[in-house]
This record gives sequence, C-alpha cells and structure tokens, in this order.
Amino acid sequence: MTKLTAVFAATKRAFDLPKDVIYLNGNSLGPMTHASRARLVDEMDNQWSKKLIRGWNESGWYHLPETVGDKIAKLIGAPKSTVTAVDSTSINLFKVITAALALNPERRVILSDSGNFPTDLYVAQGIVSHLNQSAEIPYTLKIVKPEQVFEAVDETVAVVMITQVDYCTGRLHAAKEIVEKARRVGASTILDLCHSAGALEVNIEALAVDFAIGCGYKYFNGGPGAPAFVYIRQDLINQVKPILTGWMGHAKPFDFSLQHTPAPGIERMRVGTPAILGLASLDAALEVWQGITLAQVRKRSIELSELLMQEIAEHCPALTLISPTKASERGSQLSYTFTEGYALVQALIAEGVIGDFRMPNIVRFGIAPLYIDEADIIIAAKKIADVLNNQLWDNEKYKARHAVT
Ligand SMILES: *Cc1c(COP(=O)(O)O)cnc(C)c1O
Repeated sequence: MTKLTAVFAATKRAFDLPKDVIYLNGNSLGPMTHASRARLVDEMDNQWSKKLIRGWNESGWYHLPETVGDKIAKLIGAPKSTVTAVDSTSINLFKVITAALALNPERRVILSDSGNFPTDLYVAQGIVSHLNQSAEIPYTLKIVKPEQVFEAVDETVAVVMITQVDYCTGRLHAAKEIVEKARRVGASTILDLCHSAGALEVNIEALAVDFAIGCGYKYFNGGPGAPAFVYIRQDLINQVKPILTGWMGHAKPFDFSLQHTPAPGIERMRVGTPAILGLASLDAALEVWQGITLAQVRKRSIELSELLMQEIAEHCPALTLISPTKASERGSQLSYTFTEGYALVQALIAEGVIGDFRMPNIVRFGIAPLYIDEADIIIAAKKIADVLNNQLWDNEKYKARHAVT
C-alpha cells in the first residue's frame, strides 16, 4: 500500500456509508461521518438538553460560525478570521452581491455566465429588480457564455460573479485570469466555490478575489442544509457595508442598541442566530481533513476520474463525455449525456451506484477521494456498463420524476 493509499483508506473509515452503495454524488450531498453522528449526539445529550441557554456561552455555540470558518479558511487558502460559516449559499450570495455593488456605486453591471448555477443568477436577478425600483440608471445582470467572461470584463462592470467549477459539466474557469482582469478594470469579484472547496486546491488569498462563498454540505460533508460559508479579502472586510443588517452581525448584539453598527471583522456577515446543529455537524465533519492536503486530494481525484473515464470509454459507448478531458480544465466530477439520462440514474441507484441527473440529459458522477477508491470505481464502471448493455434503464418505474433529481 502506498502512503497516499493508506491516507485515503483511513479517511474512508471516517465515513458511515452503506455497505452496498458506491456513492458518486458527494458533489451534491456529502455522506455522513462518524464524527458528525457523535457530535450531534453530544450536542443533544450533553449540550442542548443539559445546558439549555447556557450552551451559547459554555458549549462554544456563539463563536461556532468563526470556529468553523477558520477550519474552512485553511482548506481554501484563506487567512484566519476571513471566513464565517453561516446561512445558505443563496443567502450569502445576496450578502456579497449587494456588498460588491455598494463598493462600486457608479457602475451598474453584474457580469456572470450561462454556466453559473441558477440560484446565483436568480439571486442577482432579484437584487437587480429590487434596485431598479429606485435606480435612475438601471442595473443589469449580463449573462455571457462561460468562455466569453474574460472578454466581457470591462470598465462598465461593477462585479464579476463566477462559479469556479460548472455544476453541469465540471468545467473549471480560468479564475486567475478573470480576477486579474477584473482588478485591472476596477470591478469587484465574487467566486462561488461550491464545487471547488474540498475538491481541489483553492488559494483564495493568492487569487486576490474580493468575495467568495461556498457550500458546507457538498465536499465538506456537513449534512443536508448545513451552513454555507462566506469569505472576504482581509483588507476589504471592514470596508464592507452589510445590507442584511441583522443583530448577530452587530458589533455588540447584546447592547440591544437601536442603531446597527457592523461588527469589526468577518462577523459582520452574520445575520441572525446561527443554526447550531447543522454547524456542529459541519464542524465535526471537517476533522477528517486533519493531516491531508488538498494537493493530495486533487492528485487522487484526477487518478480516480481518469480511471472511470477510461472504463466508461471502453465499456459504455452509449455515454458521451461532456466534461473537459484535460484534468487541469476539470473539477472533481465527470458528466456524460445520455438521452434517457434520468432513467439511467434511477436504474443505477437501484444497482447501488448513486450519481445524479441534471437537465436536459446530463448524468453526473462526483469523485470524492476521501471515501471513493479504485475498487469502487471499477465496480461502479461495471454496473454502469451492465445497466446500459442490458438496457435495465428502459423500465417505466425509472422514468417517473421525483422532486429532487
Ligand atoms: C450547490 C450550489 C448552490 C446551492 O445553494 P443553496 O443555497 O445551498 O441551495 C449554489 N451555487 C452553486 C454553484 C452550487 O453548486
């Protein structure tokens, strides 16, 4: 066993995965760690039940968003005290888009691309339509093709908002070039790390991005609906004027003053009372990262992805790869098109291989080396070939759409 294999054999044991399942969907919802279960049991049996309201002081609850934020900071190359873990990605998007626009009051354009995740665009649309009720010169959300973002960055742009890894195809944006150009023309930058945090090396400080947001329940395995995170470049934090000025982002929440004063530091991005159970689960899930580097994870993710890619190319001609073939241009997932993609995913789930489906015909397989190894990839590839070659997907029971695909 090589050193790296041994490292990942240990991380795999940290997860509580069903024996008969190969989980290729950690890019949507990371699996549960034993640490999360133990922590939640402790929160219920010893903290919430026994300490009651005293838990806010005695159980570390009050500072938990920043405790968890600092752990996430290490995994995205951010300095201490620049990340807080609160609210959802969608809510954090609202906070950073409004903050970025306020930093560029003369400009009216939010630039994004058609490869962005819908919620990112929807939140921007809501902000634009709200601001346009009173703006003399209207705001616009400009959506270009992913490959046109760099070209479209110019002096009219207030904020460039991109998601580093495309959720559909796994395509990786050239974030460095885009951010550098945005800085040259005086535009703010927002980088969505939902599919990159915990999947690849992100050096957010070196990138000099102004704002970043990302998910706690994907590659960080915090659990369904676990809090997301928000990052602000260190020298910018205290210039940011939050728009969602809730009491928990106040400099002194317990003074109960009638006037909002933002907290000094990243705490100003807090809004209301943090969701402690989700946050505690996320805090515990982050323990698995101790002693491993994102460089190791990335190396392994590439090896495993190439293995799956080869197996599928050899045994599943019906699937068409739409992810970039070059590892350096791809995140930690492989996406394929197949006309009956939805039914295929349902049939695979019945066989114990969990991937997911995205409109209109995309089948996604997420590769998370913390709990997926070569043996899993080989078995998964065999089952995918089996379901395709025997047309097991061609069954009415696999064609009825569920609420979540
Ligand atoms: C998963 C994901 C989200 C999810 O946002 P929520 O507020 O947690 O529902 C947002 N943006 C991107 C790019 C994502 O991949």
